Amino acid sequence: MSTKNHLHENIHNSRLASETLDYILGEDGTVSWEELIASFNDPDKLALLYDPGRSVDEIKDIITSDADSSKEIHAGDLSSPQIVAKGLAAFWKWAKTGFELAEPAQYEARINACTNCEYYRDAPDMPIYRLVSKVTKSNKICGVCGCMVEKKARIISGTCPAAHQAQPGLSRWEEPLD
Ligand code: SF4
Repeated sequence: MSTKNHLHENIHNSRLASETLDYILGEDGTVSWEELIASFNDPDKLALLYDPGRSVDEIKDIITSDADSSKEIHAGDLSSPQIVAKGLAAFWKWAKTGFELAEPAQYEARINACTNCEYYRDAPDMPIYRLVSKVTKSNKICGVCGCMVEKKARIISGTCPAAHQAQPGLSRWEEPLD
């Protein structure tokens, strides 16, 4: 996908995510889509937003605190527009659930499936993965989508992208394929 398309996708997902956050926060405040995009361009903020245990208010505080523009994610960390677009799409999907987490049994089943999967691997040695690993306390990623496994398994809207080997229509987490 071109950088222009990624930019368009970022803005689209940011608008949806900020509208969802506004709805969840009610009278407590507004989060602009510009602030959301800035958060997903700031590696420190992005790492904190990857910490699934945070409350909605904490998430809002992270997004609305001053961004450190000297620490922007640069192309070469991965592909910057790709990270931002993917991060915002996942964030919006999660926001729609009210930032719900998976039940402990569901989380355990997901992690168990991942650790037995051939796509489960160490993250490449890249700044963005090093930062997020500090928060999630794990450097394992899914080799299909590049997501941090610990994060996606903990949030209710996380998904496994690979088809189950024996159960049509299900992922390797034994949940419906996206
Ligand atoms: S998310 Fe699915 S494909 Fe990725 S490592 Fe886990 S089980 Fe394997």
